[in-house]
Amino acid sequence: MTTLTRADWEQRARDLKIEGRAFLNGEYTDAVSGETFECISPVDGRLLGKIASCDAADADCAVENARATFNSGVWSRLAPTKRKATMIRFASLLKQHAEELALLETLDMGKPISDSLYIDVPGAAQALSWSGEAIDKIYDEVAATPHDQLGLVTREPVGVVGAIVPWNFPLMMACWKLGPALSTGNSVILKPSEKSPLTAIRIAALAVEAGIPKGVLNVLPGYGHTVGKALGLHNDVDTLVFTGSTKIAKQLMVYAGESNMKRVWLEAGGKSPNIVFADAPDLQAAAESAASAIAFNQGEVCTAGSRLLVERSIKDKFLPMVIEALKTWKPGNPLDPATNVGALVDTQQMNTVLSYIESGHSDGAKLVAGGKRILQETGGTYVEPTIFDGVSNAMKIAQEEIFGPVLSVIAFDSAEEAIQIANDTPYGLAAAIWTQDISKAHLTAKALRAGSVWVNQYDGGDMTAPFGGFKQSGNGRDKSLHAFDKYTELKATWIKL
Ligand code: NAD
Repeated sequence: MTTLTRADWEQRARDLKIEGRAFLNGEYTDAVSGETFECISPVDGRLLGKIASCDAADADCAVENARATFNSGVWSRLAPTKRKATMIRFASLLKQHAEELALLETLDMGKPISDSLYIDVPGAAQALSWSGEAIDKIYDEVAATPHDQLGLVTREPVGVVGAIVPWNFPLMMACWKLGPALSTGNSVILKPSEKSPLTAIRIAALAVEAGIPKGVLNVLPGYGHTVGKALGLHNDVDTLVFTGSTKIAKQLMVYAGESNMKRVWLEAGGKSPNIVFADAPDLQAAAESAASAIAFNQGEVCTAGSRLLVERSIKDKFLPMVIEALKTWKPGNPLDPATNVGALVDTQQMNTVLSYIESGHSDGAKLVAGGKRILQETGGTYVEPTIFDGVSNAMKIAQEEIFGPVLSVIAFDSAEEAIQIANDTPYGLAAAIWTQDISKAHLTAKALRAGSVWVNQYDGGDMTAPFGGFKQSGNGRDKSLHAFDKYTELKATWIKL
């Protein structure tokens, strides 16, 4: 536990030197155009600094560097044990700089400092070290060939990887990509979200300090429609890995089709159902979990449990328990270590969330908790965790990803109906089931079209299990050895003996 107080963090925030330039070939550099944009903190509206606004010219330079370093073999052909050691050093440097990185993340994105320090930074470091640890323990295959043939089935790095990431877990999402991408020997161009670029920019220097050769990791801050699009359309990017909205995920598939048919791996949105059956083993635990599933990270979580499906026979007892549990999730100053709900990432996102709350009202759902913007006097963007009861799954607040702390409560009468409602969404990222009936748990889990299913908990998992979506929540998987498929090509070599 940190002993730093809110006053300590505020002092550090005042002393912080913010780097906003791009990172190309091992050096911080301005955008080719010289253009910048302002980085505003959602904590209190303060200007944090100017960020290089990269575009197609910067993408060209970065891809050229990345291709040159890849072809040189300085990283791509390094022995896996050496890449492993470097990745572990990179992870250690993140941990050594945990307080600085946590502060950057909180100021930039608005999440509570305790989350940044104890969840985001360690999670990001773990993604780097886990992938690095794995890389010298994976073996290729020898095919079942005739006596006079040798068939080798090998994996090789795909080449130049463009990694485009969102703002909700800026450092962790970046490292879910960088871990396997770098460990397998690729050169990478990382494009952080324009809403939260600071930690991605900072760790580029730590990568070089760890021993990753210059040019292997390049970071291009900038807008999606400029530098993001340029990477999507670039003919010398071999693979695009993306985390973000379904809308932009679809756009990247178009870019790939219009250019070099680069591989496109997408981790996109969600509208995850949290199904509470009447025979849940512990209703109090289910209620607390339902509250954290929508309030943690201000509800800005791809797997947020944003649809709470409750068996009708227990709804009158269970909903007040959820409302009570949600009272422990209170927006406050993110630099206070006791705060568990921070600011929404920016004014635009706050207005989106407020407009969904308005749509809940106008569609006839019943507001039973929250519903308002608060702490306006701080200059920050804070919205109360909110619950609507009496929601039908056809309503906009039940169908669309809000990406804020707004929970829709929907009643059901049978397991079949719960499954039907749960699957009635374009998304398929995650789902949870609360029941003590082992058969019902298994049968419901099998029927749910979701990449992750949790039983009697919400949001379990670590680096050992794959993470990703069915349907329009994406393709491919982050985390686990399955993630390596995205960063490697499979080659069959036949040798006549
Ligand atoms: P977004 O799609 O708006 O942006 C994601 C990234 O794409 C940003 O870096 C953005 O600059 C870039 N981008 C935007 N337009 C682009 C374009 N035309 N070409 C190329 N790049 C472009 O998403 P967001 O608002 O940053 O993040 C929220 C979304 O991310 C939510 O939908 C959430 O569910 C999703 N998400 C998914 C996962 C997962 O693992 N499935 C994890 C976290 C977040």
